[in-house]
Amino acid sequence: GIPANANLDWKKAPCRFCGVGCGVLIGTENGKAIAVKGDPKSPVNKGLCCVKGYHSIMALYGSDRLTHPLVKKNGRYVQTTMDEALDLVASKMKETIAAHGKDSVSIYGSGQWTIPDGYVASKLFKGCIGTNNVEANARLCMATAVTGFLSSFGLDEPMGCYEDIDHADTFVLWGNNMAEMHPVLFSRLLDQRMKRGVKIIDLATRTTRTSMAADKSIIFNPQTDLAIANAICYEIIANGWMNKSFVDEHCRFSKGLTNMGYGLEDNYAFTDKPEGISFEDYKDFLEDYSPEKVSNLTGVSVKDLKYLAAHFGDPNKKVMSLWCMGMNQHSRGTWINNLVYNIHLLTGKISSPGNSPFSLTGQPSACGTVREVGTLTHKLPHGVVANKEHREFAAKIWGVPVENIDPKPTYHTVEMFRALDRGDIRFMWIQVTNPMVTMPKLKRYRDGAKKEGRFIVVSDVYPTPTTDIADVILPSAMWVEREGLYGNSERRTQHFEQMLEPPGEAISDTLQLIEVAKRLGYEKQFGYKEDTHIAEIYNEYRRHHEGKKHNLAPLEVLKSQSGALWPYVDGKETKWRYNSTYDPACSNGKDFHFYGNKDGKAVIWQRPYEPAAEEPDADYPFWLGTGRVVEHWHTGSMTRRIPVLHQSMPHSYVELHPKDADRMQIKTGDKVKLTTRRGEITLPASVNERGVPAPMQVFVPFFDESMLINDITLDSFCPISKEPDYKKCAVKVEKV
Ligand code: SF4
Repeated sequence: GIPANANLDWKKAPCRFCGVGCGVLIGTENGKAIAVKGDPKSPVNKGLCCVKGYHSIMALYGSDRLTHPLVKKNGRYVQTTMDEALDLVASKMKETIAAHGKDSVSIYGSGQWTIPDGYVASKLFKGCIGTNNVEANARLCMATAVTGFLSSFGLDEPMGCYEDIDHADTFVLWGNNMAEMHPVLFSRLLDQRMKRGVKIIDLATRTTRTSMAADKSIIFNPQTDLAIANAICYEIIANGWMNKSFVDEHCRFSKGLTNMGYGLEDNYAFTDKPEGISFEDYKDFLEDYSPEKVSNLTGVSVKDLKYLAAHFGDPNKKVMSLWCMGMNQHSRGTWINNLVYNIHLLTGKISSPGNSPFSLTGQPSACGTVREVGTLTHKLPHGVVANKEHREFAAKIWGVPVENIDPKPTYHTVEMFRALDRGDIRFMWIQVTNPMVTMPKLKRYRDGAKKEGRFIVVSDVYPTPTTDIADVILPSAMWVEREGLYGNSERRTQHFEQMLEPPGEAISDTLQLIEVAKRLGYEKQFGYKEDTHIAEIYNEYRRHHEGKKHNLAPLEVLKSQSGALWPYVDGKETKWRYNSTYDPACSNGKDFHFYGNKDGKAVIWQRPYEPAAEEPDADYPFWLGTGRVVEHWHTGSMTRRIPVLHQSMPHSYVELHPKDADRMQIKTGDKVKLTTRRGEITLPASVNERGVPAPMQVFVPFFDESMLINDITLDSFCPISKEPDYKKCAVKVEKV
């Protein structure tokens, strides 16, 4: 409780945790954060928070905060000063580049980077050093959403916004345990059900808290969502529910390559070859996907498949599809994203209030920093390295010769860690992420990072399994201990000011990068003033986006309100893109204009069902999937330092279906050994305690660093997005 006589200074910030981007108010007194509450003025959460948001400030005060730089000497960490540590980082970078070339150094960041962090990382590595070895952990969670949007619409990020929730009649959740992962947004759905009687339909491979709260729960066999989406499209056309005039005017049909593998071998390369097809071709393709034909494969009854399709087909209903990792961490993730867009395009239920296909993000700035700043190997701020005009534009703003920017992307995340293992990369700087918990097939990449001749720098706020592999550990200022900006799932850019002093010698990731850049000789490009550097960086970054399609709001606007949706044009946010009623960039006089594609049309893709990279067999008869729990955020490095969250979920577990548990005489709490082709791990069982997987499936949360489930997962990925499939591999289950 807050003492009645407390005289707190309340300031606004976006929440530190998930991509919903709730607005919070933080009360400080005598240099310490004392209280946190939901910001009633925030249009995102309207005063609400979830259990993580309400306890977020406690993550600042864990007893083992990193406060001083540490350098590994003779196998032990020795404290040093920030100046000396940054000198060492810069000299190791120079040494590595001199010995092995510019592509031997790399940076791996995250969707928890603020926009300025990611921007200066990209400017230093891509613009100044001249390597595209820049990646971020959003490759592990959002890359598929990006390729899905790009291939269907030519531009990334959702066309709608959270306000769609106030207008939709039906919500279809695809692979999205929203009640636990995006709790405040899910409460907005429940609120609408109370007020207006909307329907919530949950499609998942296991029973979760979301499916328990839904009006209808449909459980399907892993990977077969591809066939389900095609069955819905089949029904829409067969029943005459297609919005023909919308499709004729605003869509075209296409197909790409198939049987393209799963990226399991090093240096895997894949380039799709899209080919235009006719509506008749597409209709013929769908003949194999009638509900009757796919019911067995999917495990969903014909009746339920028709029920689903009818919700999309009803001309009087507005429908929102919402998805997250179930569809993105998928070996055919880009395809399943395309297939959901197909449903919305065929029915014309898109880009208007209540009609949005909506991909949700997990991190506070996965959209803002990774997708918009472009901290992925192939990207530039508002552009791609392969495009000459984009390179020229970026080089001009960065003040570097255009030849510095390499037109060829280098490594996506899995390949970057493979390159570190092989020795093609020798120096890696990891900021605000924990890959030694999150990489699939983790053992290979942990062993690779520890090899002789590798130099690893880790910037973070607490010790983690990733700081364990570091040669230099840099303590970072966290969240409101520095000024910054995040971009959330609905294209909302939000600013927060510095409210607290960071502990010890900790400084922001932005300042760490600027200091190293100056030591590398880039004083001119990084000559920001310390007291105004965030404003200078944001204003410079905004220049990359000038134009109606992605204009960002001025900093003063972001400071004065709970952020703003981009495109921000003539003092106004854009709530629904591509729709001329709402979007000032629609200038062709038509009702809709998908201006990301040259012909202004969205693409309806022919995408077949293909099996997963590894499926259960006689030796490994169960499916294994991984994910999160509401109490912990990602790898738990912050939430496990919050006593109330840690006590309510102290360790990981393996969920089993009661039938499997009975057959193997396993009860909750019994030790269970999981074995895959990569190794084994032992965890306590959970039967009917929380979620329930389907028979012959198990589910394990990944937040617990003492039980590293990723030691046994598979590093297959979607060939188009390069995002790993954490939801499916084959596993043997035994009682210990
Ligand atoms: Fe924070 Fe996400 Fe919870 Fe909102 S829903 S309070 S953003 S963790």
